[in-house]
Amino acid sequence: MRSYDIAVIKGDGIGPEIVDEAIKVLDALSLKDDIKFNYKEYLMGGAAYDATGDPLPQETIDGALKSDAVLFGSIGGYKWDGLPREKRPESGLLRFRSALGVFANLRPVKIYDELVEASTLKREVVEGVDLMVVRELTGGIYFGKPREKSADKAYNTMIYTKEEIKRIAKIAFEIAMKREKRVCSVDKSNVLEVSQLWRETAEEVAKEYPEVELTHMYVDNASMQLVRDPRQFDVILTGNIFGDILSDEASMISGSIGLLPSASIGGKIGVYEPIHGSAPDIAGQGIANPIATISSAAMMLRYSLNEIELADKIDSAIAKTLHQGYVTGDLAKYGAKKVCSTSELGDIIAGNL
Ligand code: NAD
Repeated sequence: MRSYDIAVIKGDGIGPEIVDEAIKVLDALSLKDDIKFNYKEYLMGGAAYDATGDPLPQETIDGALKSDAVLFGSIGGYKWDGLPREKRPESGLLRFRSALGVFANLRPVKIYDELVEASTLKREVVEGVDLMVVRELTGGIYFGKPREKSADKAYNTMIYTKEEIKRIAKIAFEIAMKREKRVCSVDKSNVLEVSQLWRETAEEVAKEYPEVELTHMYVDNASMQLVRDPRQFDVILTGNIFGDILSDEASMISGSIGLLPSASIGGKIGVYEPIHGSAPDIAGQGIANPIATISSAAMMLRYSLNEIELADKIDSAIAKTLHQGYVTGDLAKYGAKKVCSTSELGDIIAGNL
C-alpha cells in the first residue's frame, strides 16, 4: 500500500467547499487503488488570522514541510481587507511560498471540447489548445532590491542570477520532454539586460535537452500571439512578472477561471491550488466550480507523488463529466445537460473514476 501525507489548507471563502470535493475524488481513487491519503488540516489566510492573529501560523509551515504535498484552496475576503499588509491573508500565502522555496509555478491551460463556446476567443482559434506556462515565482522584479517609493520618485529592481534562470529553465525543459518537446522562452531581451542573461541561459540549458526545440519571443509579441494563435505554444518559459501577466491572459482562453489548476514546485514540498481566489461573492452557496481544485489534486499526483496513471484517471474523469454535460453555474449557458451544485459535481467526477 502506498501511503501519502497531505497537508490540507482549505483557507477562506469557497476554499473549504472546493477542497472537500478534491478530497472526495482522491478518496474515490484510494477505494479502487492500493493507495492511501492521510490528510492533516492547517490554517492559513483570514481563517488563521481569526484563530491565531497570524495569517500564517508557524504550525502550518512545519506541518507542510513534514508532508508529501500541500493541497490548497484559496485565501482572502472583504472581511480582512482593512488589516495592515503583514496581517492580510495574501501576505500569509506569499510567506508560505517563500518558506517552502517553491520557485516554479506551473499553469496548464487546456480547452475542453465541450466548453469551446465558453472561451472569449473563436472556436477555430482555441479548439485543441493545450499549453503550459512555467513561471519563475520567487525572483525578478517583485523581489529585487533596491526598491523604494518616495513622494516624487519610485523604483524597483529586476534582477535574476544565472542560477535562478537555470533552475526554472530546467523545469520547463523537463516538462517539455513529457509533452510536445517545444519550449518558447519569453523575455524582453531587446531592451533589458536581465532578459539577455535569461535568453543566453535558456540557450545553455537547451544544450542538455537536444530533443527539445527552443524558441524565443519578446513578451509584447507573446501576449499578442496568445490570443492570435494559442495552439502554437507547448511550454512557455518566463520570469515572474511576465508570467504573472501572460498566465492570467492564457487562463481566459479556457472559458472559466473555475477550471484552471496550478502547481508551485521546485522547493521542498509542492503546493497545489486553483488559480482563482476565494470568490467571497459566491462563498457558502454551494455553487463554486470545484474542477480547478480537483485538477490541482491531479497535478499533485503527477508532480509530487509521481502517480502519473492516477493523475490521468482524474483528468479523464473530469473530461468525461464535462462531456456528459454536467457543469456548475459558471458554465451553465454553454449547452449544459445539468447545472450541478459544487458537491453534486464532485460526486459525479468521483463516480466517473
Ligand atoms: P476570485 O478569483 O476570487 O474571483 C473572481 C470572480 O471569479 C468572482 O466573480 C468569483 O465568483 C469567480 N470565481 C472564482 N472562482 C470560482 C469558481 N471556482 N467557481 C465559480 N466562480 C468562481 O478573485 P477576486 O474576487 O479578485 O478575489 C477575491 C479574494 O481572493 C481576494 O481577497 C483576493 O486577494 C483573493 N485571492 C486569493 C488567491 C489565492 O488564494 N491564491 C488568488 C487570487 C485572489
